[in-house]
Amino acid sequence: MKNAIIVSKDAHWRTVMEGTLLGRGWQVAAVEALIPGDLPDPDHVDAIMVDAASIDANTVSAWLNAEGHKLSIPLIMAPDLSHAEGLAYELESEGAPENAASPNIIRFWGVRGSIPTPGADTAYYGGNTSCVELSLDGELIILDAGSGIRTLGMNLMGRAAAAKKPLEMTLLISHTHWDHIQGLPFFVPAYIPTNKLHVLGYSAVRHHLAEVLAMQMEPTYFPVSMNDMPSHPDVHEVDDHFSIGAVKAVAFFTNHPGRCAGFRFETSAGSVAYVSDNEINHDGQATHLPRETAEHLMQRMVDTLHGVRVLIHDAQYTRAEYHSKVGWGHSAFEDAVEMAGAAGVERLVLFHHDPMRSDADINRILREARALSAKHGWSMRIDAAREGMEIHL
Ligand SMILES: [Zn+2]
Ligand SMILES: [Zn+2]
Repeated sequence: MKNAIIVSKDAHWRTVMEGTLLGRGWQVAAVEALIPGDLPDPDHVDAIMVDAASIDANTVSAWLNAEGHKLSIPLIMAPDLSHAEGLAYELESEGAPENAASPNIIRFWGVRGSIPTPGADTAYYGGNTSCVELSLDGELIILDAGSGIRTLGMNLMGRAAAAKKPLEMTLLISHTHWDHIQGLPFFVPAYIPTNKLHVLGYSAVRHHLAEVLAMQMEPTYFPVSMNDMPSHPDVHEVDDHFSIGAVKAVAFFTNHPGRCAGFRFETSAGSVAYVSDNEINHDGQATHLPRETAEHLMQRMVDTLHGVRVLIHDAQYTRAEYHSKVGWGHSAFEDAVEMAGAAGVERLVLFHHDPMRSDADINRILREARALSAKHGWSMRIDAAREGMEIHL
């Protein structure tokens, strides 16, 4: 694994650059100042990236000399943050190369759990709630309609205009908690009569899926009713096994209050699974599936997700936090890592970040998740979901 040291007195600069290099598979030490003996051995460092606005080159050279090393490591002095991000992208990416020409793409539009969290502290990973786009084998599949679907909608409008073709898309709803449906009234493509929107999901405990989606657009809550959406979305309850064009899919229950679906897709480019809200409860009874013990639940998940190429999984909590949140329907990232490792997943994407989580917190969680996986000896790649992130299959 490649190692970088990032040096800046500016905490935001450090957080963004750490996230950028972690996203390219690097190991990163982000520091305010170069203190001798306090950092990785410079012989094992592949790049030093310095915020030129806060540290000068002489300070870096003096540190290297004091450590007894010559300046043979690429030293990147970046005049500002956007230059630094650009320069980081010129560094080699660690891990399996992305197939940039592949038409099979996963794009993240909303990665946050529970409630949107705009603000300076969440700007890097993003504050929109769950929405992931899958472009697989020519099909446009949208996973959940959290607030992220609004920006996806704007982007799709641009793509449809460029292609001079109406849109046909399938929206899969994992469950009807607000953070998975609240963006739908703001999804502009649904207001274009020539577009076709198919919506699929489990029924909720008390109401059918179509009823719940329509309820959030009743006049008390929203000025346009779902019936008046000009594309007239068709809403259907999903079967355990179904197909979207050439993409074969399986739906399964997760451990979450109410009824929540996870999905696994088989495509010509490999399998993808989406398990956005799921509690891996390793030390007791599975909370929301009373006939299933935690052990059975874990085994069933491991079997269902076996050998998946990309798994997008709930990682809302840490294990330390989890003990006071048992039954809330979410996993600690450590449990997501261990379940994915046991299932032989190739690439795990930590998803549904807690609204309390800052960008710096998510960087730390990603570092710890990778360290835990390495401790087990797994070669699984781990990323933290970020708005705008793309995975080419
Ligand atoms: Zn959720
Ligand atoms: Zn939920």
